[in-house]
Amino acid sequence: MIKGDWREELTQGRWGIRGECLIDEPLDGLNSWRVGGPADLLVRPLDVEDVHTLFAFIRHHRVPWRVLGGGSNILIADKGVRGLVIQLSDMNRISPSGVCQLTVGAGCPLSHLVKEAVRLGYAGFESLAGIPGTVGGAVAGNAGALGQQISDCLQSALVAEGAAVERWERDEFHFGYRSSAIDDKHMVLEVVFACQRGEPKLLREKVAAAREHRRQAHAVKGATAGSVFKNPPQIQAWKLIDQCGLRGKRIGDAQVSEHHTNFIVNHGSATADEITQLMTLVQQTVMDQTGVCLSPEVHKMGEFDESLSSHGKHLHWTEEK
Ligand SMILES: Cc1cc2nc3c(=O)[nH]c(=O)nc-3n(C[C@H](O)[C@H](O)[C@H](O)COP(=O)(O)OP(=O)(O)OC[C@H]3O[C@@H](n4cnc5c(N)ncnc54)[C@H](O)[C@@H]3O)c2cc1C
Repeated sequence: MIKGDWREELTQGRWGIRGECLIDEPLDGLNSWRVGGPADLLVRPLDVEDVHTLFAFIRHHRVPWRVLGGGSNILIADKGVRGLVIQLSDMNRISPSGVCQLTVGAGCPLSHLVKEAVRLGYAGFESLAGIPGTVGGAVAGNAGALGQQISDCLQSALVAEGAAVERWERDEFHFGYRSSAIDDKHMVLEVVFACQRGEPKLLREKVAAAREHRRQAHAVKGATAGSVFKNPPQIQAWKLIDQCGLRGKRIGDAQVSEHHTNFIVNHGSATADEITQLMTLVQQTVMDQTGVCLSPEVHKMGEFDESLSSHGKHLHWTEEK
């Protein structure tokens, strides 16, 4: 715990933040793996002005911070997260802002964006139908499916880096496969998408096809964070994991899915430590048997026991956010 009652300054309104501020807020209900301890303080700013105030507070108290989207691609530590966790769920508006252009709050669920784009006859998001999480999280990880990525239509975005809020143009993001230049110093606040015009009926059919593909390929029951590892060049991660005999491998209540071997399922009472241990085991086994180093697609947040992954020597997370 960071010393002093810095948190009460926010919850008692002394800084004038209008959004919700919650002390020791549990995070296990805010991520799709359903694991992890509480945040010292969870804050949901209402707008960019609140974000500016929040960063003044962060600078003043020198507290660490992280941003949490829909929690669908993240492993939150059992000990929770020290400092502030910022969630932009109240910055979620979608506004048509030009010809075939949409300005979207980073906290907007991706599913709402897909739906609204199709309703307006804007093409570019159909294959993303069914991907959980928020627009901000999707941009940070360049989420995609079936050959379409969120970056395809992205024109620019408002990004907070500490106190400064700047507009980034598309090429400043350096988008790659499930990656972007957004790291733990940045928070995407609002995104402008420039779309192509599409025939709504055709777009609806594409959405239905994407959902059907997902229903068949991702028929995993239980709490998961989607694909755990990125696909290495030339081969899919699930095939390597399967070849190495890891289908169904279990540590506690965490199990390599029987249906999709690149998913890890929490059957009810798995801990983040158990998931970490299972990830390390998968990574180490695949390395030993095939020489391929699997890189995590999921992010991590909070205080982890480093020995759980260093033990297995391979578990390099994509980036320290
Ligand atoms: C069943 C299932 C299926 C999935 N299928 C796919 C798929 O087909 N394709 C795919 O790409 N992904 C898939 N995913 C993974 C996940 O849904 C995506 O990566 C999603 O875009 C993550 O968004 P989020 O808001 O949930 O991010 P979170 O999980 O909350 O966060 C992920 C990372 O992004 C950062 N972040 C979140 N919001 C912001 C922001 N506003 N600014 C800066 N950084 C931010 C966080 O700090 C964290 O490091 C799947 C997940 C599940 C559970």
